[in-house]
Amino acid sequence: MTSEEIIAGTERYLMHTYARQPLALTRGAGCRVYDPEEREYIDFVSGVAVDALGHCAEEVTSALNAQAATLMHVSNLYHTEPQVQLAKLLVEHSFADKVFFCNSGAEANETAIKLTRQYAAQTHGLECYEIIAMENSFHGRTMATIAATGQPRFHAGIGPLLPGILHIPFNDIGAAKRAITASTAGVLVEPIQGEGGVVAADRQFLQELRDLCDRFGSLLIFDEVQTGVGRTGQLFAYEHDGVIPDIMTLAKGLGGGVPIGACLAVDRVAQAFSPGMHGCTLGGNPLVCATARAVMQRLLERDGLLDHCRVTGQYFVEKLHVLKEMFGCIQDVRGRGLLLGLALSIEGKHIVDTCREQGFLINCTSGRVLRFIPPLTISREDIGRLCDVLTTAFQKTMEETAS
Ligand SMILES: *Cc1c(COP(=O)(O)O)cnc(C)c1O
Repeated sequence: MTSEEIIAGTERYLMHTYARQPLALTRGAGCRVYDPEEREYIDFVSGVAVDALGHCAEEVTSALNAQAATLMHVSNLYHTEPQVQLAKLLVEHSFADKVFFCNSGAEANETAIKLTRQYAAQTHGLECYEIIAMENSFHGRTMATIAATGQPRFHAGIGPLLPGILHIPFNDIGAAKRAITASTAGVLVEPIQGEGGVVAADRQFLQELRDLCDRFGSLLIFDEVQTGVGRTGQLFAYEHDGVIPDIMTLAKGLGGGVPIGACLAVDRVAQAFSPGMHGCTLGGNPLVCATARAVMQRLLERDGLLDHCRVTGQYFVEKLHVLKEMFGCIQDVRGRGLLLGLALSIEGKHIVDTCREQGFLINCTSGRVLRFIPPLTISREDIGRLCDVLTTAFQKTMEETAS
């Protein structure tokens, strides 16, 4: 099919849930993707922080192919080796003792919410069910996770929302102190708000949440669906600040392109689930677990990708600061590792469009924040190329607004 035919087909046959870019993609290799006419794009979106090792990375495709030819799915009525191997890797390299697998970030957060309420009910009684979440957060699109998402624009027309979730301003220690009570089952927070505009939690705020949770017997839940699995230059973002949660959710980058989510917890909390309380038919099937294991192994190699992510991310930040000096419409350079944002005083759409026309994919979130989430394998050269194009794009936009 041609680009035109694919785009027309989307319009004709798919529900209109996405404001898609006018671009069809058929093939990917490393940090590049190609449209049906073989036009090349350098990818600074990586499927929204999913393709951590780039497109069709050898480690990923060979693990996937080998497992596809062996055993793809049998359900959780049985034990399977890839699931055990992946869970073991996650447990050995995090604070957690136990893992539950599912298919997406939303499902991982659903699991975290259910587990939190189960634990609170068993430990403190049924009146303890409240979840404190943050304004401007993003936790997914299911009915529980959308209620946890602190952005009212997502709530219109789907009420009544799940009760028992309240929102406080992000990074507001005073508000956290006022909100937490004996009815608080858990506090849910992203170490860096991704969809919310690449805004990091202050270390002090996270430490205060930890202290408050300890004092009230509440659980601290980190949504690392976007920040986890190497994205910020550590395997998990909580490692930067040394604040350890009780529960952590993962998805996006974990599968390197296959759908997988995970909810991790310490033993004491994980024990609140007993057989029958939660489940997921496809969750953690051999195909996705073998693939995710290959991603994890690549990340854990000595002198490997995590170092590259930190160093390259730092270089990227310096280049973005140069841009900020040049253009008054750039207000802030934000983020960590290869989860970076440029906060603008103007809409980001024109910049995204100009970059795409020049062969670069970038993303704009929250209207005015350009978000850069390339594969963790991105090179300095490609970052340099993007920044040249961004310079031209900002010049063009400034000229247009001036005239
Ligand atoms: C993307 C995202 C989700 C939702 O993940 P899905 O796989 O789309 O369900 C949840 N939390 C955070 C922080 C995310 O970035």
